[in-house]
Amino acid sequence: MNKLRVNKGFAMERFSVLCIVILITGCQAAGKCGYESCNPVKDGMINVHLVPHTHDDVGWLKTVDQYYYGDKNHIQNAGVQYILDSVIQQLFADKNKRFIYVEVAFFARWWRQQHDSMRHAVKGLVNQGRLEFILGGWSMDDEATTHYNAIIDEHSLGLEFLRQNFGDCGRPRVAWQIDPFGHSREQASLFAHMGYDGLFFGRVDYQDKFNRAITKSMEMVWQGSPNNLGPSSDLFSGVLYHGYNPPPGFCWDTLCTDDPIMDDEDMEGYNADQKTQDFLNYTKYQSMAYATDHLMMTMGSDFNYQNAHMWFKNMDKLISLVNAQQKKGSKVNLLYSTPSCYLYQLNRANKTWPTKSDDFFPYAHLPHAYWSGFYTSRPTLKGYVRQTNNFLQVCKQLDALAKLEDSDNSTLNIQVLKEAMGVAQHHDAVSGTEKQAVAYDYAMRLSRGNYECQKVVNDAYKKLFPKQKEVPPNQMFCNLLNISMCQATENNKQFTMTVYNPLGRAVSHWVRLPVIGKSYVITDPNGKSVPSQVLPISNVTKNIPERKGSLAENELVFQVALPSLGFSTFFIKMSQQSIKKQRSVVGQIDKADISIKNQHLSLMFDGNTGMLKSMKNLNSGASIPLQQTFQYYIGHPGNSSVKRFQASGAYVFRPLTSASLDFQPTLKKKTLYVQGQLVQEIWQQFSPWVSQVVRLYDQAKYAELEWTVGPIPVNDGKGKEVITKYSTGLQTSGVFYTDANGREILKRVRNHRATWQLKTSEPVAANYYPINSRVYINDNKTQFTVMTDRSQGGSSLQDGNIEVMLHRRLLYDDNLGVGEALNETGADGKGLIARGKHYLFLDTVQNSGALHREMGLRLYMAPSLSFTNSQMKQQEWSQKFYSNWSGLKSPLPDNVHMLTLEQWGGPTIRPSATQPFLVRFEHIYEKGENSALSKPVKFLAKDLFVPFSIKTMEELTLGANLPLADLKRLQWKTKDYTTDSEAVRRRIQAADNFTVILNPMEIRTFQVTLT
Ligand SMILES: [Zn+2]
Repeated sequence: MNKLRVNKGFAMERFSVLCIVILITGCQAAGKCGYESCNPVKDGMINVHLVPHTHDDVGWLKTVDQYYYGDKNHIQNAGVQYILDSVIQQLFADKNKRFIYVEVAFFARWWRQQHDSMRHAVKGLVNQGRLEFILGGWSMDDEATTHYNAIIDEHSLGLEFLRQNFGDCGRPRVAWQIDPFGHSREQASLFAHMGYDGLFFGRVDYQDKFNRAITKSMEMVWQGSPNNLGPSSDLFSGVLYHGYNPPPGFCWDTLCTDDPIMDDEDMEGYNADQKTQDFLNYTKYQSMAYATDHLMMTMGSDFNYQNAHMWFKNMDKLISLVNAQQKKGSKVNLLYSTPSCYLYQLNRANKTWPTKSDDFFPYAHLPHAYWSGFYTSRPTLKGYVRQTNNFLQVCKQLDALAKLEDSDNSTLNIQVLKEAMGVAQHHDAVSGTEKQAVAYDYAMRLSRGNYECQKVVNDAYKKLFPKQKEVPPNQMFCNLLNISMCQATENNKQFTMTVYNPLGRAVSHWVRLPVIGKSYVITDPNGKSVPSQVLPISNVTKNIPERKGSLAENELVFQVALPSLGFSTFFIKMSQQSIKKQRSVVGQIDKADISIKNQHLSLMFDGNTGMLKSMKNLNSGASIPLQQTFQYYIGHPGNSSVKRFQASGAYVFRPLTSASLDFQPTLKKKTLYVQGQLVQEIWQQFSPWVSQVVRLYDQAKYAELEWTVGPIPVNDGKGKEVITKYSTGLQTSGVFYTDANGREILKRVRNHRATWQLKTSEPVAANYYPINSRVYINDNKTQFTVMTDRSQGGSSLQDGNIEVMLHRRLLYDDNLGVGEALNETGADGKGLIARGKHYLFLDTVQNSGALHREMGLRLYMAPSLSFTNSQMKQQEWSQKFYSNWSGLKSPLPDNVHMLTLEQWGGPTIRPSATQPFLVRFEHIYEKGENSALSKPVKFLAKDLFVPFSIKTMEELTLGANLPLADLKRLQWKTKDYTTDSEAVRRRIQAADNFTVILNPMEIRTFQVTLT
């Protein structure tokens, strides 16, 4: 094990000299990378690993492209192109120097602009471990508000870039989440399955960090999935000492003002002795918090190294000064290093490490600064990111099913959306903590990517539709259905709608189309008539300023049945005759209680107030009193000048008082009901700017609540944070449950942390947790579940209650760098209106797992609609085109989800082959969630698909950059066990003969070739 540490400097030196000489023609010395390329350490000393690094936000105060070029430097002096230009030259000049690069979104931009000679030379640096990629995702994703599907995709995107261009030496060994605002256990689990050996991060709650520092437990084995995946999800994780900054006084960037090392005694300002002593003192302090003789110091910060020479020149001096003290008995040894070289030494130390099995949310850096506001900040961007992930999956699937070729340009089209999504996962993107102009830039990128993917879907349909040679008409897409606006359905009296279902099982799906007429005839792919209902569009919707130009007065509502991984085409035509069955009755509630009911649920509303009163499950008999209110907190208006004046802002949630405030009760006279054959609705107006529609569709097991909030008024000078609160009366003893990144469920206990004693004077903000897809409470018998359509913050502040924050508008900056108040003003400048949905379930605890797992999947992988203005009737269309098509020969088992289906990789390096596809299968249940569905599941993949069968199948790591058979992770000793370096890999045996076995919560990634 120690052999990797022995001095191999001699051989490396020769390579380096050679490199400098032949730099111009390019040099790819075949040195060693990875752990074998680390600079030597000195055993018996405190080895300080200086890690030169730059933290390059993929958008924050400036857009990603402005940061790349160094544009708009009056906002922030930052230009990534200069950083890479400058660092590379420094690395060429000295074999001992090291640098890590993290954000592939930037590196890819730079790389595409380099000539071959430079690329060759840089490959040489990577091959020798002098330039090392760490993390290697497209961006350093936020961990609180991201969905696992998008996390996996954005890492795969970055890792694939590195694999194609740098091979195995470009494969990052260490994950690096130094800036995200709290850390998710699910992220650790995903990282473990991507094959990382370790993870480092910078932000941990200040109380937790203090405890860890005094108990030398800054570093640990984090159990990413203790109840389901076990040891394969273990990930060694370390908390950095000083965030990701250098020791105070030792920042030598153009952006810093610390003294350089002045080491000529004949000149004024000589400080070398003092600097040396200061550094040794700092080392002593830091070493008190860590368990081994190795310390990591992050030498860099945001956008550092535009002039890398400054940093390296002073670090050279520091290393030489401090190491010179060794002759006088000093036991401190400095070296240029990287996080992986540091990690490797921790591993060598053969210590017993503490474990942790909960997460690091919420994060507070000061008593009044809980970073739980960003869980909700910019709700419309969060919604858009989730929706776009959905469409990206649809796009990739259809590209694969239609086997579009490079001549179709689809790979490039999809790349645009992949990159936009990669950028959007950044910890200042979907988190909502960027400047307004940058938020618009993220949305614009997503919109462009969507447009590119619409072309792909259109091209795929052109291949999949025709029975013979007839070319189908072009598809039109409706991106604004959430505000009942769609040109294709409004401007045509007759049109077709094709709906694609990205799930591996048949689904029924409710469609709502904005229309101008009052009656429509709808025909399904088999020529059968589809029952429908026509509802008026509410004034609330009509008044949304972004809806300008829409002519639609009504919504046409109907249910479509869709085949697994396939599409159906429907034929819709305005009818001259009024169809009685389609009509809706609209009325105003009046004193008497009113209930809406379907086959499964009943909801009762108070006739006097219009408010929800109770919910009953008609199958299980479970029944609860259920009140729902909309309330708001006033954001603390502090000027953030001192700690106690901390303002509520983009990051921080700090309510002025712990009590949330009610709106004026305007509900009663405004509450309407809408009744019809297919859907019952209650329209509630809680205030002039807060409204909601409660829906119960025929046969639905959930109640759908569509909330519309905004413009939040601020003319009283008060910022407001709007919540909805559900009060159920369930006895919950302070316990509630939230999901992590849409996947495993974490148990939360009010005013409690699993591994340390919480003391807090922020009882609301300190109990807020990220909700990506669901939050629930139960009394061991009855469970009340709220599902969301985007990431939001929420809590259970009283037993039996769930509150979820929907929208925030604030007037003060929280002084964490963004420099703007979170004040979204929308299209008309009066304040952004946000709209979204909650889905409520009430059932036994036993039944609830299946309900929320199935619904979670259906929400983020919803069917995708497109339209043509074809006047063809169903019969004519069906002669020419397939109108009901499934890509699967048989549906997937109920507990299996096909997480990924896409054309994959380039033709260069293993694990690519000709025509490879990437497929991920996932078991969507946790252990014990459902008596039948939580069991391991087995199925055959070979002949699963209709358009192709599988010829070969190779299992890869989750990030798809390494054959699983080649993965070997570092092993770590804990009190109870030694982690299993091959736990992830062992699964491969089960993939023989195309049989896929999935255990609860398992995701397996395969590269397949087709016959
Ligand atoms: Zn950052």
